[in-house]
Amino acid sequence: MLSVEEARERILSHFSALPAEEKPLLDCLGQVLAEDLVAPFDVPPLPNSAMDGYAVRASEVVSASAEKPVVLPVEGLVAAGSLPPGPLRRGTVMRIMTGAPLPDGADAVVPFEDTDELERRKGAAPLERIGIRVPASKGAAVRAAGEDIRKGAVVLTKGTVLRAGEIGVAASIGMKSIRVVRRPVVAVISTGDELLEPGQPFQPGKIYNSNAFSVAAAVATAGGVARVIGIARDTVESLQAALDDALSPSGPGRRGQAVGAAPADMVVTSAGVSKGDYDVVKDVLAQRGKVALWSVRMRPAKPLAFGTLDAPGDRKVPHLGLPGNPVSAMVAFEQFGRPAIHVMLGRKPMLRPSIQAVLDDAVTNHDGRRVYARVVVYRGAAGEYRARSTGTQSSGALTSMASANGLAVCPEDISQLGVGDVATVHMLDWSEEVF
Ligand code: AMP
Ligand code: MG
Repeated sequence: MLSVEEARERILSHFSALPAEEKPLLDCLGQVLAEDLVAPFDVPPLPNSAMDGYAVRASEVVSASAEKPVVLPVEGLVAAGSLPPGPLRRGTVMRIMTGAPLPDGADAVVPFEDTDELERRKGAAPLERIGIRVPASKGAAVRAAGEDIRKGAVVLTKGTVLRAGEIGVAASIGMKSIRVVRRPVVAVISTGDELLEPGQPFQPGKIYNSNAFSVAAAVATAGGVARVIGIARDTVESLQAALDDALSPSGPGRRGQAVGAAPADMVVTSAGVSKGDYDVVKDVLAQRGKVALWSVRMRPAKPLAFGTLDAPGDRKVPHLGLPGNPVSAMVAFEQFGRPAIHVMLGRKPMLRPSIQAVLDDAVTNHDGRRVYARVVVYRGAAGEYRARSTGTQSSGALTSMASANGLAVCPEDISQLGVGDVATVHMLDWSEEVF
């Protein structure tokens, strides 16, 4: 049996970052920057006001106080988006709005709250003059040019994962589209004679194809583009046709795919990889490339297939064969598929953040495999993390996965973690409720 780490290492060695593409900025969220972004100018480009108030020479308002305001004539106004009407003449101030460029000669801004503007307005006093009530130090309420970004600086380096903040920074230097590592297209194929597509009428003896949906959703969550190929029956012809479809370079798909659908960068199948299984899946995969059937020291998801498929254009496309049981398929995708997508995205392969939590329910290990128990992590009365089981841990019970926010680990060499023991929990979701 392979450890989870050995299996993951072997799998990831078959993946590398995909080529770059240029896309509109907002479409790049979650993707990896494929080039350094260099600032073509200072941000902000000009020194500007951080407040609504009056641009002043600091040296002219040193004696200002509430009792003895320094009263100066107001000459002009600078609004955000326009340039000052001229330099600030000595012995005058200029009304200035937040973000507006500072006139030459000014070196500080006095916020209007520190002036008598409000009283003058109330009393309908002329606003040609203003009383400054607080001294301003040089640079007060002024944002220097280049304070955020210096012209010529690398603002975002190649390899950066673009989150909301990075997208904003790229926009702030005027980028409309940028080069990012392409998202992987992941073909998802379910195998089995027992499967019905959701929407088909229920039939006794059959089950709905949930794996295609949970796996495709997990692909999307990891940053890939899922292409759901559909169900392959347990026949050579049917599986061949599904693989042809997954690997074909554009063109009308045989199974109702959109014309021009991209060929897969990775193929994920589910079911047909257990020992006792009818050998169709294994045979077909072996004919079309290389495949190995593994036993991985984990529960759920012990049986796993991994290999490469020969695709048109001399491409070798990695294939991950997940077990059929719905929870096993999801947990195996989590351990092996998700980090593979990260690598294709040009990211480091990432695991979930883990925490230590006190168990409300025991986790039992019958046979020396690492157990991933589905749990709900919550805060206990003393603020500690606690983990309670989501109920039946059958690998067929998909609801145990749906209600879980984490996977609690019972290590290979421990036969049981009891109630009150502390376990490592991999967090599938990581946020805390407001109330
Ligand atoms: P197998 O690996 O073919 O032995 O399948 C193991 C179990 O997973 C069986 O109970 C299957 O019915 C179930 N299973 C296989 N494929 C799917 C699927 N796409 N959706 C839901 N259950 C499935
Ligand atoms: Mg089967």
